[in-house]
Amino acid sequence: MKSSVAQIEAYYRAWQRALNQLVKDGLAACLEEDIYLIGPNASQMASQRVKLTICVTLHGNEVAGIAALSQFVDMVAARLVTLPFVVGVTIGNLPAARRGERFLERDLNRSFGSTSFTLQEQRRAKVLQDTLLDRTDFLLDIHQTRLANQTPFTIFPYTAQSLAFAALVCPGQPVVTHWGPSFSKEGLCSDEYVQVQGGQGITVETGQAGFDPTQVSFGFSSMLRAICVLERGEIGSAFGVTELAAVLQATQTQVFSWAQVVEFPEHRDILLKPGLMNFSPVAAGEQLGVLAGEAFYAQQAGAALFPIYPEQNSKTYHKPPREIIRLVKPITIAQLPV
Ligand SMILES: [Zn+2]
Repeated sequence: MKSSVAQIEAYYRAWQRALNQLVKDGLAACLEEDIYLIGPNASQMASQRVKLTICVTLHGNEVAGIAALSQFVDMVAARLVTLPFVVGVTIGNLPAARRGERFLERDLNRSFGSTSFTLQEQRRAKVLQDTLLDRTDFLLDIHQTRLANQTPFTIFPYTAQSLAFAALVCPGQPVVTHWGPSFSKEGLCSDEYVQVQGGQGITVETGQAGFDPTQVSFGFSSMLRAICVLERGEIGSAFGVTELAAVLQATQTQVFSWAQVVEFPEHRDILLKPGLMNFSPVAAGEQLGVLAGEAFYAQQAGAALFPIYPEQNSKTYHKPPREIIRLVKPITIAQLPV
């Protein structure tokens, strides 16, 4: 489904209307452009910790989150949703969304923790850090993918609490988690940045970028579930492997991690097997494509993640990607780092 400027503006007007109302009612505080605290005593939260931050559209073309979050703040403003604690909410990169681009000058979701502030997105990352992310206990960051998904999924660097949060917020959906060196060499993603500051962070990938109503509902309900999970105190500070195992079992969550990465060969011919989506099952030894005249194969059974077909890598993405596909494999709790 194509996103349109008119839809973005309509949802953005609803977001502004709801937040203006909440500010007037003393139930929200504006921290910076499109960065708010909402809930009881929001205006007195000068420097306290923020239990939950909901972030959408850090990537401008991933617009389902704007629709979901504007509906969420609308329901809070109409008193249909009562917040038990103060929640941080933000639309990450509205200027890029209005242009239908992933970003304007630099990938915002690879700009956290940066020490350079010359580019627009580097400055926006710093503002998000200073106002919200540095004091966030749990981050829910809503994203969308380039291609279709077999299923919504969550993805983030591993901690036991972040994994439990993902399983409880998106029950029954697969989780991709990883550890060791950063996911991207360019800079930190929001979830990793919040974890480095001592909080927990997860990224939800609802499906292919656009205003798909099913994805908007999924994003919206994940926001409500995040509040329920944190209000019930389901993830305490003393949260270990035993508690994690119980949560994964109760939510029927399958956990995956990296199995294989196929780098994008700049200036070389590549042909990726047609029809792959996020979480398409892949068999061990299955041919995935042809790279500079030579076939390449899946080293083990698992699922496809972030496949990129060069012809679909439109100008939205500015430059050639670093990778053509990743494969993930199911892992057990015993394989997670201690
Ligand atoms: Zn994204």
